[in-house]
Amino acid sequence: MTFSISLIQQIDALLPQTQCGLCGHRDGCLPYAKAIAEGEDANKCVPGGQPVADALANLLQRETLAAEPSVWAIQSDGRPQRMKAVIREDECIGCTKCISACPVDAIIGSGKLMHTVLTDLCTGCELCIPPCPVDCIDLVEDTQPILTDSQRIAEQDDLRQRYYAHIQREESRRLHRKGPVVRAEIDTELFAQYTEQNQQLPAIEVIEKSEHAKLVMDAKSTIELAKIRTQIKKLEKQLSVRADEKKQQQLDSLLQQLSDLQGVKAWL
Ligand code: SF4
Ligand code: SF4
Ligand code: SF4
Repeated sequence: MTFSISLIQQIDALLPQTQCGLCGHRDGCLPYAKAIAEGEDANKCVPGGQPVADALANLLQRETLAAEPSVWAIQSDGRPQRMKAVIREDECIGCTKCISACPVDAIIGSGKLMHTVLTDLCTGCELCIPPCPVDCIDLVEDTQPILTDSQRIAEQDDLRQRYYAHIQREESRRLHRKGPVVRAEIDTELFAQYTEQNQQLPAIEVIEKSEHAKLVMDAKSTIELAKIRTQIKKLEKQLSVRADEKKQQQLDSLLQQLSDLQGVKAWL
């Protein structure tokens, strides 16, 4: 993959780093920055609103487009109203699903214990809401004063750092994950290339896909093997009582499948 990191970096610097995916790029601001560099319209960042669409048009010397509308009212700085998530703590069952859904690690809590949102860190991205099985997360308006430009840049830098640290942690957990999986795997390759060339960001290392595929295959074949063994036992029991040509054929075929799968597992 080749692309101009410098242009992507300049575009990414203008994006809010909410990592909400509302621009249509599920993995967040950096993939959208790359797509913009490759020619995608630069007006799709919903939380950035018109100011971000205008700043991008200016950077790229493109015509200004109307920003994608938000469901929230527009604040005095031209951006949509900022929101915050709040957990109704007495209803929380401590399932931890919201923790891994939050791209900026703004939720704390541990298994079977009440969870809480660190309000200062929450961007209102809403990604924690769908995975909550008891629907105990509300969104409320952020009542903090509107950020100045320098506060916004500092916040974006912090959110970017937090998201990349989150990705790296999720990436290393991926192979031995015990907790719930609440979002599709992030395509880490772009992030890894980007952080390699940007020393200020936490390095992201991609876990070998072959290694991952191996484990998935391993888990699948283990389940398959267990199923086949159960069927074989059942058939052997039935055949020990009464001979049956059809069942014998089924048994032979299952024994063959068992041997094939064991061969695959040994190879893995
Ligand atoms: S903040 Fe904007 S650019 Fe970043 S993921 Fe959300 S919509 Fe996309
Ligand atoms: S707590 Fe929820 S709304 Fe707030 S940043 Fe995390 S996922 Fe987004
Ligand atoms: S997903 Fe909902 S129930 Fe589960 S820990 Fe988070 S807030 Fe609590």
